[in-house]
Amino acid sequence: MVDSFYNYIEGQWASSTTDRWTKVINPANTDDVLGNVPASSSKDAEKAILAAKKAKTEWKKMSGPSRGEYLYKAAEVLDANKEDIARTMTREMGKTFPEALGETNRGVAILRYYAGEGMRKTGDVIPSSDKDALMHTIRAPLGVVGVITPWNFPVAIPIWKMAPALIYGNTVVIKPANGACITAIKIFKCLEEAGFPEGVINLVSGSGSEVGNAITTNEKVAGITFTGSDTVGKQIGQEALKRGIKYQLEMGGKNPVIVTKSADLDLAATATVSGGLKSTGQKCTATSRVIVEKDVYEEFKEKLLQKVSEINVGDGLEETTWMGPCASESQLDNVLSYIEKGVKEGAELVAGGSRLTQGSFAKGYYVEPTVFDNVTTDMAIAQEEIFGPVLALIKADNFEESIELANNVEFGLSASVFTKDIQQMLDFMDDIEAGLVRVNAESAGVELQAPFGGMKKSSSHSREQGEAAKEFFTSIKTVFVKG
Ligand code: NDP
Repeated sequence: MVDSFYNYIEGQWASSTTDRWTKVINPANTDDVLGNVPASSSKDAEKAILAAKKAKTEWKKMSGPSRGEYLYKAAEVLDANKEDIARTMTREMGKTFPEALGETNRGVAILRYYAGEGMRKTGDVIPSSDKDALMHTIRAPLGVVGVITPWNFPVAIPIWKMAPALIYGNTVVIKPANGACITAIKIFKCLEEAGFPEGVINLVSGSGSEVGNAITTNEKVAGITFTGSDTVGKQIGQEALKRGIKYQLEMGGKNPVIVTKSADLDLAATATVSGGLKSTGQKCTATSRVIVEKDVYEEFKEKLLQKVSEINVGDGLEETTWMGPCASESQLDNVLSYIEKGVKEGAELVAGGSRLTQGSFAKGYYVEPTVFDNVTTDMAIAQEEIFGPVLALIKADNFEESIELANNVEFGLSASVFTKDIQQMLDFMDDIEAGLVRVNAESAGVELQAPFGGMKKSSSHSREQGEAAKEFFTSIKTVFVKG
């Protein structure tokens, strides 16, 4: 008997009006069925939006500390259910269990952070030129916020969008990615237990083209926060612009690491493997391009290949596994097609490059951790986001050329440098075109209390997380009061 999971609308669990379902399978073993989720329609999205609209006035009127109490409670319930949620995440999208548990712990911490935010200041007093007047700012919530999320961080991303939306007085309708919907539904079970008033939080599962589009184009939705691909992000941005509403897009990356001749090469190799191949390379902040100064190129490459050869691929629920499968068949196909392109374009495959199909790999979407040598910047594997466990080694003559090569892409999410030279650290901070700048640390690393977001094509240029979230989820009113 396969479990069925439901939409959450106006405080009720409900199947979709379509009565169609999507089967969710484990990418590590396609015989393992997690359950069915509703393949909802635009009508379901409309219902959820209406519920959120009805709830918004009461929620907005509540004090910040009172809203914070719901988030504290949600953190407590999520914490109590974290092992189950992490296990579900591993079965649903393949990330290893320790990574999934770490992410769920992060979800708990994000809820606590924004719960506290309910007690912090939301405005400023500004001296008026009229001595008898009081001038200050207050922050108004947007209203109903549409939340559209990807499958690669199925706990952290929904929570880092919903928690600030809620604490600043918005109500939400989320459409989680099809590829990680059960994990999102389990988060909602925790939110339900936390007792949020009816209609404040709503979840509708279904395809992006139907449910996602219905949320984006609904005139009652006053703001859209999206994380996902550049193609979909652009469409959403254009729709939002047409309606004159606020939108926030976090999209892809093609993140570089620069290894200079003064770098600690062991540290750089470890961080490159971790930043590039953990989560099977399916992080927007994953290292994809490895730019190495020619003087240390061969030595670094040897160290890197040694570490890659030690990677244990397998089912993320196995304790010995370091890298799980690709999250879905389409992800696997995408990765394999980029590997083929890399070979065709003349890059040299020095590790991996194939699907794993024997024995315990037979029923999963496994690919070997892959490294290309002799990559040049004109190649697709050096320009386009692969979103898989593929590293491209690029040789640079010197530090200045390394920065040029690093910036020579359309994306600008994260970037890291390994160097002991302080001047190079300072130059890197100034010259690198990335929203997340990392020195002697891997490219994939995010702290919930700090702003997160990219430059160039990686983002619509607002920032998420930490205090920065307030800018998106509220509008400033400047108030002038005279007695
Ligand atoms: P997609 O853009 O395909 O999907 C993201 C979400 O948008 C999903 O919920 C999807 O639904 C939905 N969607 C699809 N089409 C539409 C549409 N027409 N209108 C509205 N919503 C739609 O990205 P992926 O889920 O494949 O995620 C991978 C991408 O996310 C990568 O490019 C990665 O770089 C990026 N990402 C960026 C991060 C960042 O912070 N910069 C962090 C994590 C990932 P459905 O479930 O049906 O596909």
